[in-house]
Amino acid sequence: MRKQIVAGNWKMNKNIQQGKELCNSILNLLETSNKEVILAVPFTHFTVLAELIKGSDLKLAAQSCHHELSGAFTGEISASMFVNLGVDYVILGHSERRTYNNEGHDLLRKKVDIALSQSLKVIYCCGESIEERKTGVHFDLVSEQIMEGLFHLDSESMKNIVIAYEPVWAIGTGETATSAQAQEMHSHIRKAIVNQFGAKVAQSTSILYGGSCKPSNAQELFSQTDVDGGLIGGASLNAEDFISIIKA
Ligand code: PEP
Repeated sequence: MRKQIVAGNWKMNKNIQQGKELCNSILNLLETSNKEVILAVPFTHFTVLAELIKGSDLKLAAQSCHHELSGAFTGEISASMFVNLGVDYVILGHSERRTYNNEGHDLLRKKVDIALSQSLKVIYCCGESIEERKTGVHFDLVSEQIMEGLFHLDSESMKNIVIAYEPVWAIGTGETATSAQAQEMHSHIRKAIVNQFGAKVAQSTSILYGGSCKPSNAQELFSQTDVDGGLIGGASLNAEDFISIIKA
């Protein structure tokens, strides 16, 4: 049975006061569910939010981590520092980091390895641009992202990997992949995992959809066979919207 996961990616939003309020509202509205609910919040919020969510089912995620554990890397934060603060997951390969921070395959592979070495679970993002979809290379592109970032791992390590398919043209645009487009790509990703790691690993790897997922389309998307939940940006900044997506 695959884990159903809903992760909210706050990105660079909410100051600490607003973050506490949002987290408290989510805690108040959250009913016990069989889904894993994760908040990927700014680094500065971990100490305070870790205290707030103590005893609840909520988990924390970092939005990136450095590829080394320590050293002269001004402004960076390491995977072990996150673990030390009670963080369980890290998002790696988000399209915003691939684009604005030039994070490519080699760097992401190192980040995946260092995160796993510290027992930080990885939400590994992949997804094509609109040009790549229009020219029909989207399946190959996503295969390449998965292969380059994850195929050096062994089956045991894959237990700590969650994949998020996020078509770049749907992120923050209000445009969502249709449920058929999402299912088609999720099934493609799962087949790639079957080929590399076997059916058992593929059947237990959660694949999330991300890209303008909201209360009005979450149920339709999540009902697809290979969609195991969502990575939610904008809609995770509002407690009611985030909770109704979790309920979907
Ligand atoms: C994201 O950036 O991970 C994301 C899915 O954003 P949004 O939901 O706002 O499209």
